[in-house]
Amino acid sequence: MSKFISARLKELEAYVPGEQPQTMRYIKLNTNESPFEPSPEVKAAVTSGRAASLQLYPEPDCTELSDALAGRYGVGRENIVLGNGSDEILNFCFAAYFDRLSPVIFPDITYGFYKVFGDLYGSDYTQVPLDSGLRVNPDDYIGANKNIVLANPNAPTGIALGLSDIEKIVSSNPDNIVVIDEAYVDFGGESCVPLIKKYKNLIVVMTFSKSRSLAGARVGFAIADSGLAADLNKIKYSTNPYNINSMSQQAAKAALESDEYYSANCNRIIDNRNAFCRRLEKLGFDYLPSSANFVFARKSGVSGLELYTRLKENGILVRRFDNPRISDWLRITIGTKEQMETLAGALSGLTEEMK
Ligand code: PMP
Repeated sequence: MSKFISARLKELEAYVPGEQPQTMRYIKLNTNESPFEPSPEVKAAVTSGRAASLQLYPEPDCTELSDALAGRYGVGRENIVLGNGSDEILNFCFAAYFDRLSPVIFPDITYGFYKVFGDLYGSDYTQVPLDSGLRVNPDDYIGANKNIVLANPNAPTGIALGLSDIEKIVSSNPDNIVVIDEAYVDFGGESCVPLIKKYKNLIVVMTFSKSRSLAGARVGFAIADSGLAADLNKIKYSTNPYNINSMSQQAAKAALESDEYYSANCNRIIDNRNAFCRRLEKLGFDYLPSSANFVFARKSGVSGLELYTRLKENGILVRRFDNPRISDWLRITIGTKEQMETLAGALSGLTEEMK
């Protein structure tokens, strides 16, 4: 850090992304990517004329992609905001709404970026503890009279709240913004997108990074009442109007046209998750009931750090968080059947050795 950084940012602790090793040496189960490649239609789209005309700026409004999303989710174009990954949409939300005078709450154990954005914008934020089962207690949010950010399913736990709880949270905080981050909703959660027609304070955040195999393309989006969407677009046009590059616009549009391919992949991941949980049970692990493409697990008496390290030495990358409440837990992305078999074998051998 230099002496020139603004006083406001001196203490900011940046988000630390999961490791992205550039060799294929690892079985990579650490950043919740899809183990499946993009659909053939997406691969064709990124080399199409429109995508490859890189001498031109991309279309800033992403009209075709917005219309395709509006059609897919049964809303209007005016309800859609595109972001460079859903991280950028979350950035827009914090920039637009959560400052020193407009408090926001989110769980103590959730997606780590919420805290980073809170610090970046000097938001007045409070981290609400998950209950002893690492669950979000809806009563902590119903009628809270504060802005709210919830990942549903939550990360890294994978536990989802039902639609009726989400509706109670949204309807009981009419004077505050409720952001529901549905990055993992396609793996078994219940989307609250239908509620946006009823509530003017709800922003649903989604991504192409997980269920649609496009983490590298960086496309996320928000669905919200048109007034809120206009607010978020105001931030987009005040920072980076060309935030979605031409190739990614074409890739995301083609992905929406490959629904069958991606829903089959989601079903495979759900099957692999269920089979892997049965293996974990046999191996004596505790795990949380996941509605996402990852499982949060620990084995009593086994150090999370040691198990993480030993797995890495054995060529398998998973994610561990340096938070005392969950330091012995590992977040394991669900990969292919073969990858999960290899991991289960390694877990069996290593936990036996580490006894
Ligand atoms: N929300 C949650 C809960 C996440 O886990 C992630 C992935 N790290 C994101 C949002 C951001 O994903 P992306 O920017 O790739 O859309």
